[in-house]
Amino acid sequence: MPTSSLNPHLPFGENKLADWYGKDIISVKQFGRDDLEYIFGVAHEMRGMVERVGTFDLLKGKILANLFYEPSTRTSSSFTAAMERLGGSVIPINEVKYSSVSKGESLPDTVRTLECYADVIVLRHPETGSAAIAAKAARKPVINAGDGIGEHPTQALLDTFTIFEELGAGQVDGMTVTMLGDLKYGRTVHSLARLLSLFKVKINYVSPDILKMPKEVMDEVAAKGIPQAEFGSLEKVLPETDVLYVTRVQKERFEDPAEYEKVKGAYVIDPAIMKAAKKDMIVMHPLPRVGEISVDFDEDPRAAYFRQMEYGLYVRMALLAMVLGKA
Ligand code: ASP
Repeated sequence: MPTSSLNPHLPFGENKLADWYGKDIISVKQFGRDDLEYIFGVAHEMRGMVERVGTFDLLKGKILANLFYEPSTRTSSSFTAAMERLGGSVIPINEVKYSSVSKGESLPDTVRTLECYADVIVLRHPETGSAAIAAKAARKPVINAGDGIGEHPTQALLDTFTIFEELGAGQVDGMTVTMLGDLKYGRTVHSLARLLSLFKVKINYVSPDILKMPKEVMDEVAAKGIPQAEFGSLEKVLPETDVLYVTRVQKERFEDPAEYEKVKGAYVIDPAIMKAAKKDMIVMHPLPRVGEISVDFDEDPRAAYFRQMEYGLYVRMALLAMVLGKA
């Protein structure tokens, strides 16, 4: 795969380091293009270090509290792996039902507790705005690992890093990105559309009528001068697409299960459909998939979703090193 045109030896950076030390990561709105270049430079370096030495001692003695009120495989385990690859350790709270949360403890109190033992808190919570509430309560950095249908900033950072690494950083301006599926409840696309609006991209949204991208997100993206268009079917936009970002219909967010049933199989990407796409484009998915991409497509070189997960490790290593001032 083509590698990034970023300088892989970008210094771990005197001046930028101060910017992120002790900071919370709550929303992609906190990032500008310079930040991305810096983060991706560090992530690129992390990748090299993992390939060369596997584990090293940058965060030796540091502790991460991984606090998950919602299910997670990738985000939770990649933050754990990131911390451990950097020589740190993790307090895992993946089953809040076994913690004092089930006794009725409030989020601010839980966070205040964990920061007595940990240096950084990664939080996933079903309510939009919860990460900001936790960050307000905590003195230590809080990293938003998904707040309901709100945002998933570290996913958007790793998604953009994937695009840089796979297609070349210099190619992002001028690119057409098509987001497909549940754009209403999918927090990953809410963050990604906002983050990509830092570049001169064109964004297509393809979804069932009831799962359209929220107006609030589209307005923010439009304010950056980014052309956006909405479609009900993929056919028309697939041939021009450089990045096809597929999402799962978020069953857990539906109040009426009958509504979910109506839209759950709306789009399925398979080798036949992908004949109409470019040869040098990529297909991404934050995963888990539940049928939106046929397994028959997995061996296609354009299927980037498994590589995307690995990029997530390096981006999360970079973020942890940055907020802990040890990059
Ligand atoms: N893993 C992603 C998230 O937590 C996407 C998904 O669940 O569909 O938002």
